[in-house]
Amino acid sequence: HAKRQGGGAVSVFGHALRTAVVDRWATEHGLHRALDRGELRVHYQPVVEVRTLVPVALEALVRWEHPEWGLVAPDRFVPVAEESGLIVPMGRLVLEQVCQQLRHWVEAIDLHGEGPQTLGSGVVEVNLSARQIDHPQLVPTVEAVVAAAGVPPSWLTFEITESALMRDAARALGVLRALKDLGVSLAVDDFGTGYSSLSYLQRFPLDVLKVDRSFVAELGRDGGARAIVAAVVGLAHSLGLAVVAEGVETEAQLQVLDELGCDYAQGFLFARPAAPEDLAEELLPGFRAGLPLAAGAWPGP
Ligand code: C2E
Ligand code: MG
Ligand code: MG
Ligand code: MG
Repeated sequence: HAKRQGGGAVSVFGHALRTAVVDRWATEHGLHRALDRGELRVHYQPVVEVRTLVPVALEALVRWEHPEWGLVAPDRFVPVAEESGLIVPMGRLVLEQVCQQLRHWVEAIDLHGEGPQTLGSGVVEVNLSARQIDHPQLVPTVEAVVAAAGVPPSWLTFEITESALMRDAARALGVLRALKDLGVSLAVDDFGTGYSSLSYLQRFPLDVLKVDRSFVAELGRDGGARAIVAAVVGLAHSLGLAVVAEGVETEAQLQVLDELGCDYAQGFLFARPAAPEDLAEELLPGFRAGLPLAAGAWPGP
């Protein structure tokens, strides 16, 4: 509540709001520093094939290693980065780290006497926010970063949330087509939480649909979520898209996903996101000796 302070100043913010404003400012200010000082690091979480449990991809998830606050989760700072526009340099940094990491893994594979061809397409999934999609430099930046790292664009999949796609669908369509022309794969993230027009789903040049974890969490309880996931799998397959279930935490959920014909799964049941040096080698797609990524398992461009 507004409170009269010494000197006659009137605070227009209640305590909670004032705290939120200060927090937001501290976060934005801190993010500038984080970008300059290299405090942002990409962690990776595997995506496995439901039928075989073979890892086929990794999702890149940004983390902020704050010197005092410790590891900050993206929900704390990605929204602030989006509002302030810092998501643009941050997104570039994430993509650069991912490409460098891919180079590093490729060299590790070569040490094992296998060729880089054991990495299939769509190996690392990178999240893009609406603000990045809107930025006129997105496509040239992606092209430049990928070329500078010497990484084939087919090793990347970009994830875009359903709501970011639908915000300005006509514009998003143009950007997605340009990204697709570079040779990357495209996924819809958090599917089922926005309000997609199904006709757009068909018009966007998509490869993968990621079912939001709120539906997966309900699987194995009553019938509602099961029917929704079954419908999404059917819809995706009829449009030629692969389906990933997000947030799989239990064997029971995995069992239902298998019954429903869901292609891929991601979640704490298999692995939590981890720093690249902490990822077990058997979780890296195509890294297990003699286990190339099944041809065409992950839809390529
Ligand atoms: P998302 O893209 O939907 O990523 C999946 C989120 O689910 C991740 O949260 C992951 O840690 C979490 N998750 C995975 N498996 C499970 C599970 O079994 N149970 C539960 N409860 N959660 C699970 P995280 O890493 O905190 O990221 C949150 C969101 O932040 C992401 O959601 C994405 O929208 C955004 N984000 C993360 N990294 C980036 C980035 O580099 N760029 C942009 N633009 N956004 C990012
Ligand atoms: Mg994602
Ligand atoms: Mg998601
Ligand atoms: Mg999400």
